[in-house]
Amino acid sequence: MFNYEVGNVDREIIVFDTTLRDGEQTPGVCFSVEDKITIARLLDDLGVNVIEAGFPASWRDEEEATRLIAGEGLRAEVCGLARCDVRDIDVCLRCDVDRVHVFIGTSDIHLRYKLKIDEFKALENAVKAVEYVKAHGLKCEFSCEDATRTSLNRLLKFYSSVSDAHVDVVNVPDTVGVFTPELMFKLISKLKENINTPISVHCHNDFGLATSNTIAGVLGGASQIHVTVNGLGERAGNACLEQTVCTLKFIYGFNINLRFERIAETSRIVQDISGVKLPPNHPLTGRNAFAHESGIHVHGVIENPLCYEPLQPEAIGQRRRIFFGKHSGRHGVEHFIKTRYGNVSKPIIDEVLKTVKALGVDRKALLEEDLDKIFREVLGNV
Ligand code: MN
Repeated sequence: MFNYEVGNVDREIIVFDTTLRDGEQTPGVCFSVEDKITIARLLDDLGVNVIEAGFPASWRDEEEATRLIAGEGLRAEVCGLARCDVRDIDVCLRCDVDRVHVFIGTSDIHLRYKLKIDEFKALENAVKAVEYVKAHGLKCEFSCEDATRTSLNRLLKFYSSVSDAHVDVVNVPDTVGVFTPELMFKLISKLKENINTPISVHCHNDFGLATSNTIAGVLGGASQIHVTVNGLGERAGNACLEQTVCTLKFIYGFNINLRFERIAETSRIVQDISGVKLPPNHPLTGRNAFAHESGIHVHGVIENPLCYEPLQPEAIGQRRRIFFGKHSGRHGVEHFIKTRYGNVSKPIIDEVLKTVKALGVDRKALLEEDLDKIFREVLGNV
């Protein structure tokens, strides 16, 4: 769109959605088995490549939901999460998933305080887990949990060892969201130089950088992105699907095979099911993402929407909203009234504008139907 030089944008970017796994780990969010199936179908309609359906070993409902989603006959690949432990992997196998995502903590802090094993034991467990998944003929993705607080040398050792065991994808999680775009670009570029396996990134939004870090990973050479609808996820959430895929497609021009026109509806349904409502200023799918109120902006948008819109709202199934209020100008109000009612005298338009601004001071954001009502009231008074 803006003709930046970003290297090869024709390569395919695989969208791995983890709304049902990491997204469900949002505090206070719990999807029922039926909710999970509804969301899985929604994601499949949107066209994501991989759906991480859950962590089946964690509890009974999670296993049932994963098994049912895997049996739905979706176009998307269905993935289950497992620790590097045969028992966890066996539960995924019972669910008949297409892909098993195995992970193990590799930072000093995870090894010492959580796993209480050394890095050699962790590496042995990682390789064994990948070999076990591959021996059962499934696709395998491997994550060094807390990768961004693990030394580069150790990451290279883990990722090249699992690559030797024929892992299909290596994922790089910024588990606690402490990375920056420059660091992510460098890390992924470095890994890319050393291993041939496709690389994935998984970013958290603790500092609000999840989307930027994911994009930087792609620019560094990652070919898969982990995202969640509405940016749901642990703590401040994961990289938001809508923001990430739209940035890659509409700003950089990457080739992403999603039905973009379904994005707004997907976001809306996940808000309803999860109970986590987006603020009005949420990028792309928030209520105000394509809303205009100020006189100068409304005037510009009436002449040509591109004056004040980054892309056509219809491209992602959104719609343009013109609000009337304190910041309204004569041009917008006059345009609205004349489009509906033909020529109307100046005093009437002045009166409508005065009423709109007075209501706006009372912090009311008025929609077109409200303006209609005001117009008819003004007419009645004249
Ligand atoms: Mn995560």
